[in-house]
Amino acid sequence: MEAFAIRVGEDEVRDKVVKLMKKCMEESEKYGKETGFMVCRGEGEYLILPPEKKGYDEVELPSCPEGYEPVLTFHTHTSSCSDEPTITDIYSMLDTKAKMCIGRGGKVTCYLPEGEIDIEEIRERAERFLKVKEEVKSLIDRINEILGGAEYEKDEALRDFSELLDKLKEYREVSNIDDLKDKLRKEVYEIG
Ligand SMILES: [Zn+2]
Repeated sequence: MEAFAIRVGEDEVRDKVVKLMKKCMEESEKYGKETGFMVCRGEGEYLILPPEKKGYDEVELPSCPEGYEPVLTFHTHTSSCSDEPTITDIYSMLDTKAKMCIGRGGKVTCYLPEGEIDIEEIRERAERFLKVKEEVKSLIDRINEILGGAEYEKDEALRDFSELLDKLKEYREVSNIDDLKDKLRKEVYEIG
């Protein structure tokens, strides 16, 4: 899909957003990458902005320009991950103060905070999550290197494997958002 920045009126915004959600989910399934967009409200019009960066398990959405306020963010999750928000998704939702919608396989789930959520605590959890995720990635890279290398050291590989197992346990802990589920209002739409 081409990068887009669209200006639409009050009466067409809903249609446009649903169409783009469909397009993004199709693109995401085809290329296995996350994508999305940001919807900003100005005076009598809306701006729909493309992502700044797309990645395999993350997407970066732009901020709204001056004079516009963020009203909705949309991003896809690829089929290999769940349609639940990550702790970093929840942090961005609190940070942008906009409704957050996640699309996967034709299903769109939107979230809004309900009740008090301590944004500082969520920011810390999101940072820890990103750190552990990076650590898991680099451990996997190291193990791949060892297994593919000429001088394969069994002891070294075993040590790295057990480190990876511990890290994965930690990853499961830091990615758990069960305690926040009753603080999120959830709406589900089938649009595929
Ligand atoms: Zn996400």
